[in-house]
Amino acid sequence: MAQTFDLIVAGGGPAGLEAARTAARFGLRVALIERKSHPTLLMRSCAQMFLMNMDSFYNEAMYPAPQQQRWVFPVNNFSVPYRGSYREFYACHFVAPNASDRIEIGDYERNACGAGVPAYVFDKAALLQGLFDECVSAGVVFYTGRNVVCASHDSGGVTLRTAEGDRMAGRYCIAADGVNSRLAQITGLNRQRRFINTARAVSYYIEGVRFERSEAIVLGMGWQRSQNRPLPFCLLPSVYGPEEYWLYVAGEQDFQYLIRRSAFRQWFGDVRVLRMRANVVNNWSPAPEPYAGGIIFAGDSCWFAEAENTGALMSGHRAAAAVCAAAHRGLAGRNALQDYLAWWRHNWPQAHDYREFVCYPLFNRLFTEEEYVYLHALVGRPLTWSLNPFKLYDRLMEGLRPHMARMERERPGLARKISRFRPDMALQLIAPAARSGFPNR
Ligand SMILES: Cc1cc2nc3c(=O)[nH]c(=O)nc-3n(C[C@H](O)[C@H](O)[C@H](O)COP(=O)(O)OP(=O)(O)OC[C@H]3O[C@@H](n4cnc5c(N)ncnc54)[C@H](O)[C@@H]3O)c2cc1C
Repeated sequence: MAQTFDLIVAGGGPAGLEAARTAARFGLRVALIERKSHPTLLMRSCAQMFLMNMDSFYNEAMYPAPQQQRWVFPVNNFSVPYRGSYREFYACHFVAPNASDRIEIGDYERNACGAGVPAYVFDKAALLQGLFDECVSAGVVFYTGRNVVCASHDSGGVTLRTAEGDRMAGRYCIAADGVNSRLAQITGLNRQRRFINTARAVSYYIEGVRFERSEAIVLGMGWQRSQNRPLPFCLLPSVYGPEEYWLYVAGEQDFQYLIRRSAFRQWFGDVRVLRMRANVVNNWSPAPEPYAGGIIFAGDSCWFAEAENTGALMSGHRAAAAVCAAAHRGLAGRNALQDYLAWWRHNWPQAHDYREFVCYPLFNRLFTEEEYVYLHALVGRPLTWSLNPFKLYDRLMEGLRPHMARMERERPGLARKISRFRPDMALQLIAPAARSGFPNR
């Protein structure tokens, strides 16, 4: 006999917890099924950056309110509890293989003096804990340590089964099971999407990093000379301690090469690894709409790569609000959820072109070591602040464009490579990566 609820939510990340919290506070009987033994356990890499005040990310203008211990989403009209710490950072630096030349986004000195808008890293476990606590107070029933493996639906709603033998039925169901969503696979949603690649990487929390202007996010272009290939990495202040940093790189071999043999080794002379996390992420094009097999999708489960924690919260909230309105009217099925589907279309695929997201990682593969050093030395002044991943390539081009005439004189071959590269070529260029991936089709 299945346990029955108004709403069942699969997955207890930011999207699922926010959906469950909202629906339970609005009066529905809600169950949340989570694979981990507790939703607040962090298993996977996350930079834990808070992307705020930039380029109308998902048409929101979210901001932290530390006094109130909340994050506020004024456009979508909700806020979430957050009692963790923050660490500010002031700029984004793209650093060349010589570990010195750089293109800067955001004015580090001005922002560090409080004149501009800094960015933050936050403690994701604290965010999840706040949501979990409010779910519990609102009466959400948690089934943890349960892996959803099967879904079916009929006119009465959706039934989910777990590998552990549970059966749960809901008039409505929200899938928030993340970027490698099993429910997107089971319902056929992924067959309507284009598989891009399987991305694998490791993040190291380290101490003993030494470089000037350390409170910035560094998108570094290391160079693996014995294989003559780029060795991109990301370095970011960690929220867990003032001397701690988050270093994100393809894996252990690249990590060792970067800190011991590349030009960046001067930054990492005395590094100690405090903890590690990893991720394996299947990147798909966005779903045509976040609905399939009677199930509503939120967060990473239906989007391209990362919805970000903020996007996951927004879509979890909006999906639950649409379910509550439908339940109140006694309606079900796709048409009853139009509020959410229209909001999602307008603020996600119509607001951001995922091909632009792909452009920045591709930019990291197009040039030689010497060409990267040349490019990073061209742009003198800091560019306008943004960390919007859909705009990173645009931002780089904004810096390089005024120097194209000089580049055509000094490096005509490089200038041709740059002007030939257009966002609409991104998918074609990245196509070979799909062949070495593991699609959950
Ligand atoms: C390397 C990396 C860096 C990132 N950096 C940032 C950043 O700086 N800032 C930012 O905002 N975002 C960042 N993100 C993105 C962010 O982590 C995600 O967008 C966000 O966690 C998505 O939330 P979600 O709730 O949709 O999915 P998830 O957080 O993935 O939650 C899904 C939940 O579902 C559970 N689950 C999965 N399958 C099942 C199943 N079959 N049955 C039951 N439960 C299941 C999982 O255990 C998990 O708890 C980063 C992501 C990566 C990979």
